[in-house]
Amino acid sequence: MNFRAIRADKTDQGQDVRFATMSEDELMPGDVTVRVTHSTVNYKDGLALSGKSPVIRRFPMVLGIDLAGIVRNSSHAGFKAGDEVLLNGYGLSETHMGGYAELARVKGDWLVKMPVGMTAARAMAIGTAGYTAMLCLMALEAHGLKPADGPALVTGAAGGVGSVAITLLAQAGWHVIASTGRAGEADYLKSLGASEIIDRADLAKPPKALMPERWAAGVDSVGSTTLASAIAATKARGAIAACGLAGGMDLPSSVAPFILRGVALLGVDSVQCPMPRRVAAWERLTKSLDAKRLDAMTETVSWEKAFEIGEKIRAGQVRGRVVLEIA
Ligand code: NDP
Repeated sequence: MNFRAIRADKTDQGQDVRFATMSEDELMPGDVTVRVTHSTVNYKDGLALSGKSPVIRRFPMVLGIDLAGIVRNSSHAGFKAGDEVLLNGYGLSETHMGGYAELARVKGDWLVKMPVGMTAARAMAIGTAGYTAMLCLMALEAHGLKPADGPALVTGAAGGVGSVAITLLAQAGWHVIASTGRAGEADYLKSLGASEIIDRADLAKPPKALMPERWAAGVDSVGSTTLASAIAATKARGAIAACGLAGGMDLPSSVAPFILRGVALLGVDSVQCPMPRRVAAWERLTKSLDAKRLDAMTETVSWEKAFEIGEKIRAGQVRGRVVLEIA
């Protein structure tokens, strides 16, 4: 069977990323074939769509770090034809062909059965960004933090991880301080549950070793001086869950907050997150993420627009989440 995909090929000039028609025997080994109905654009997808991403580590590569769809055939004991499934990460679009395709062949061990009450469209509205926001909340809770400890900071607030993080934290009872560079999105951020909005410029300067204590917890998708500032202003025994690098990969911090205030830095990796934790995150997202707020932060478009959305997300101009309809 032939199918369409957004494929990256290696060229003398670098990479050539475009829609291509592929045949099933070009897919990589796997024990489950999925008819993909929906995917999404995360920041990492935006980088891959630029044709300049170092993230792709094998060519040709099908882009798309997320997919949702229906199992077409399976030799994996856990899945059968007709099952609805979703997949985040596990090297899709890096080392294994991903979700920007009408057909994907993957390892059944990477798949999550669609939770009862979840749909493919909704799962991709959440996507890696939203599932990572949930992993961040779970990490903060596992550290013992609760809303009574003080406010929670969310950086990159109007982006995908940020929008879902605000919603989840607010629903869990936290007073959320949203840091954004887009003052015009204040009403949107408040509609998701943010109690205070701060200008991201406040956190952009390299901080002193210790700053006045402002929050007990944080979800940071920006990195660099923003993360360093978030750490420096965290209350004693608080923690920041760090998952992103939208503002840079460096971390110009000092050990002072760790050794003088007992602050913790909690690293969050969604790509290789163990399956039991993934399933727990998806179950909780299914049960607790407010559907109206998710709808309010989500735009749904045909996957023909993937390149356009990729450009917008690289420029930091996507608000919330974007679902790509594949089928
Ligand atoms: P988005 O582009 O949707 O959101 C990122 C947000 O960061 C922007 O909306 C903007 O928010 C802010 N931002 C962008 N550029 C800058 C800058 N130069 N300085 C300060 N703030 C900036 O991306 P996602 O939410 O999909 O992903 C966010 C980050 O998290 C990415 O780095 C991504 O790779 C990472 N990530 C990591 C995962 C993991 O497993 N660890 C999983 C998922 C994502 P605003 O306009 O409100 O200021």
